[in-house]
Amino acid sequence: MTDNTARIVTCPTCQKRVKWTPSNPFRPFCSDRCRLIDLGAWADGQHAVPGDGDDDELMSGEMDGD
Ligand SMILES: [Zn+2]
Repeated sequence: MTDNTARIVTCPTCQKRVKWTPSNPFRPFCSDRCRLIDLGAWADGQHAVPGDGDDDELMSGEMDGD
């Protein structure tokens, strides 16, 4: 039972379940490909928080109330 201590994590890129083990250099990703895709997404700004527009509206509303 070598899997006894292995944790299962979800690959942030493809949602595949991956064993979190020292032998997986790409964790929490399932593969180097998914790791690079995620890094690319960050660089492209795709990880911008959804609902950013709402936040902006709240901020300007506060400013208006002055
Ligand atoms: Zn993946």
